[in-house]
Amino acid sequence: MSTIEATLKTDNQKIANQYLEKVYNATEQRNPHEPEFLQAVNEIVDSLAPVLAHHPQYMESGILERLLEPEKVISFRVPWVDDQGEIQVNRGYRVQFNSALGPYKGGLRFHPTVNQSIVKFLGFEQIFKNSLTGQPIGGGKGGSDFNPKGKSDMEMMRFCQSFMTELYKHIGPETDVPAGDVGVSAKEIGYMFGQYKKLRGAFEAGVLTGKGLEYGGSLARTEATGYGLVYFVREMLKDKGLDFKGHTVIVSGSGNVSIYAMEKAAEYGAKVVACSDSDGCIYDENGIDLDTVKELKETGDERISSYIDKHPNAQYLEDCSNIWSIPCDIALPCATQNEIDEETAKTLLDNGVKAVGEGANMPSTQEALNLFVENNVLYGPAKAANAGGVAVSALEMAQNGSKLMWTFDEVDEKLKGIMKNIYQNSMQAASDYGSPGNLVVGANIAGFLKVADAMKAQGVI
Ligand code: NDP
Repeated sequence: MSTIEATLKTDNQKIANQYLEKVYNATEQRNPHEPEFLQAVNEIVDSLAPVLAHHPQYMESGILERLLEPEKVISFRVPWVDDQGEIQVNRGYRVQFNSALGPYKGGLRFHPTVNQSIVKFLGFEQIFKNSLTGQPIGGGKGGSDFNPKGKSDMEMMRFCQSFMTELYKHIGPETDVPAGDVGVSAKEIGYMFGQYKKLRGAFEAGVLTGKGLEYGGSLARTEATGYGLVYFVREMLKDKGLDFKGHTVIVSGSGNVSIYAMEKAAEYGAKVVACSDSDGCIYDENGIDLDTVKELKETGDERISSYIDKHPNAQYLEDCSNIWSIPCDIALPCATQNEIDEETAKTLLDNGVKAVGEGANMPSTQEALNLFVENNVLYGPAKAANAGGVAVSALEMAQNGSKLMWTFDEVDEKLKGIMKNIYQNSMQAASDYGSPGNLVVGANIAGFLKVADAMKAQGVI
């Protein structure tokens, strides 16, 4: 490189850094009470300096300023009547973040912690994740502060119907296509689909994904996020001459993502020794018996502590964060955001963790993430590693549109291909922009470039 080129590069880098700082500060000022959203923004902004230094046109067309402001934020009242005849009121949200690549796409979360910051962080991440899948889908997310725990079936149905009575005005197969997330499984999707159908007076299968197989769902959608995560981590391991076989794995949570991550990791020869729920975790040194976990969590509505009743040799540890003190080679956080902080990351490193693959969205704090990267742990960030769920949701939309139904193996093969592509594209972007092997930077850049080009092509809207 000539001296002039080198100087120019340094100058461009400086300009890009100053610009990013300015954009981040403005975002912070505009969204002062949204820490999770700002955390997600910070991670992206941190990765983009080399891209903007090489392509100043993205700064000139204000791509980032526009990307950071959702196209639409909808917040609404959800009144419903409980089994005692009392009126309850919750708050519903839908954040339609970015439609440059296709209809808004992203799940609905029902959990008491849901607020605008959480929905915006999830919706923001979804833009890049959906872009990485290569499917024609934009980014969105929604949910409610409703707590599904302990609710009867009829209460769930009444809540879902009331939620959809407002949401249906804003969604549609070509507009916005929600799916499930924490607290929203095929049962809730069914209640919401029924209400949408009644209000619209039409059977529009492509309006929601994660549907039951009888009315437009896709085979392998239930398994997709957990399986996809393991396919992604397998690619990371393979590049280093490693494999799941013979390795000890810990998977936090015991919901949809965790269960199918455990299933696929075990199928690939790993020993999965621990999982958790929000109360505590179980450690079974002989390997978790997944049939018991499925019985407790998929068919029943029980606590993970009941695992011990069937497996008295296993241990139950109160406080779910204890799961990360158990030594493992591969850690798959699949429960919730920020479950791995700096201290936890240090413990994992002290215990010799080789790889971390994020099934949950943003399960590592920025400090934890930095520690993993600095210590050369193989690290699969959520945007890339858990994109299998939304990828198969897009395949569900494709099946709905063509009125076809693919076999389990067909969908699973496509999922494997998509996860491999995400891995390769992220690795390529990391090395193209000066951070070889860094999948955090690579996934952020690869996801960003496609959306940025589409936004630029569509003008200032
Ligand atoms: P589920 O509702 O099916 O399961 C969540 C699980 O996590 C439950 O076992 C829950 O326990 C547990 N949990 C919640 N908080 C904690 C905690 N602090 N410590 C330990 N366990 C906890 O949700 P999903 O499996 O669908 O989602 C899990 C994560 O994966 C979320 O971050 C979600 O956004 C992400 N994700 C999900 C996708 C999907 O397709 N479902 C797609 C991409 C990402 P309890 O029963 O006690 O609440």
